[in-house]
Amino acid sequence: MDSDWMRGCKFSNSQDSQYDNALICKNGHVINSMSNQYPIDNKAFCEECGSKALDRCEKCNTLIRGNKLGDTYYLPSFCFNCGSVFPWTQLKIETAIELGLSSELIDDNERDILRTSIPEIIKDTPRTMLESTKVKKILWKIGNGTSTMIKETLAAIISETAKKIIWPDKP
Ligand SMILES: [Zn+2]
Ligand SMILES: [Zn+2]
Repeated sequence: MDSDWMRGCKFSNSQDSQYDNALICKNGHVINSMSNQYPIDNKAFCEECGSKALDRCEKCNTLIRGNKLGDTYYLPSFCFNCGSVFPWTQLKIETAIELGLSSELIDDNERDILRTSIPEIIKDTPRTMLESTKVKKILWKIGNGTSTMIKETLAAIISETAKKIIWPDKP
């Protein structure tokens, strides 16, 4: 029964089913990262903020990719099927920009940079380093308090490259 052919077959099947589906609220709280494996934890609304649980991309209706068995789950920023930003990503970007704009220590040019650069630093693209450097300079002007709030707002979605440039970990 357990021939090499069968094993090959099982392997390719399990590759497809490695990812479970996730339930995430609009604000980005992960309600259940393995909604098929552990349906008992499924909820219609978020216990942390009361907003509706989403199980699929609102643009293309594809189920949100959940956890792979044995892996750490990271909040996805974009739909893997259509590339749309998820609502929580959008909300975090907008909030981070608003926090930055609330500072009176920056000029209009710097405000424009925040508006265009913050959406770029959550992705890993050839522009990430450049945009991160611009953001870093402005955050330095804005000062620690607001900069920390922006950091926390973007924590779950910022690209690793950007994080290393803007907020390098001090050993
Ligand atoms: Zn929530
Ligand atoms: Zn989609």
